Amino acid sequence: MIIFKKVDDITNFLSIAKENGVATGFVPTMGALHNGHISLVTKATIENQLVICSIFVNPTQFNDSKDFEKYPVTIEQDIYQLEKAGCTVLFLPSVEEIYPNGLEGHRHFELGFIETILDGKYRPGHFQGVCQVVHKLLEIMLPNKLYLGQKDFQQCLVLKKMASINYPSIQIIICPTQREADGLAMSSRNSRLTKEQRLVAIEIYATLQMVSNKSKPGNTYILKQSAVQYLTSKGFKVDYIEIANANTLEPVEDWNGKEKIVVLAAAFLNEVRLIDNLLINN
Ligand code: AMP
Repeated sequence: MIIFKKVDDITNFLSIAKENGVATGFVPTMGALHNGHISLVTKATIENQLVICSIFVNPTQFNDSKDFEKYPVTIEQDIYQLEKAGCTVLFLPSVEEIYPNGLEGHRHFELGFIETILDGKYRPGHFQGVCQVVHKLLEIMLPNKLYLGQKDFQQCLVLKKMASINYPSIQIIICPTQREADGLAMSSRNSRLTKEQRLVAIEIYATLQMVSNKSKPGNTYILKQSAVQYLTSKGFKVDYIEIANANTLEPVEDWNGKEKIVVLAAAFLNEVRLIDNLLINN
């Protein structure tokens, strides 16, 4: 695996690969890699000759400075795991390399409704930051395929929208959520949970499954409310539990039983924010 830290160096390297028609897959990450990330890299190695992974903890997508400061960094293990998974290129830039003109005054992305709900509502500016960094990384990599995880369901829709406007030729591949044996969605933030919190954390997925099992045509309000109450009783501070259209994320208040829907949750255990989602009828 070749490691690049400078935009100019990786750009030169990739221009030679592209001149030779090499198929490239790109996996953007913030590091502290786990098997969820690695599943994206593995899929990319099957579908491409060259696989690029980036590790960059993007400051512009953190609306909470404490969350940014405490974001786990495990670079040595990350490099080891990427090598093992068959990744060809790792891009490891500094903040100055990605934002040479500073963190402020970036282009605004027109994301519309999708940015006003769920994580867009509870993490103001988050998806603008995500678009800024992924736009910049796509500009550098210009891959054939971009690999994203369903774990960040809303992010997938946001980036599909951004890419369809700015990089229409890039194919977006959404990979299934990887879970621990007890159902907890793998996440870099899980390492910040105490032993006790880690045991309680499984209740998020259990709640999503409960909502999925009890979903039936009609009003969704009571089901959502009981899910919020259940998680609250287990010690979570719930941002939202929403049942939404799986393509648009419009909340579904009255389900006709046919519309494709997804249940999404975001909740804090102390200061660690966890998100997860489950497609109900797909
Ligand atoms: P992050 O490092 O959290 O920015 O995640 C980088 C990529 O890995 C994103 O596309 C995530 O959706 C994806 N990802 C994170 N956790 C998982 C998981 N448990 N299963 C599958 N993909 C994941």
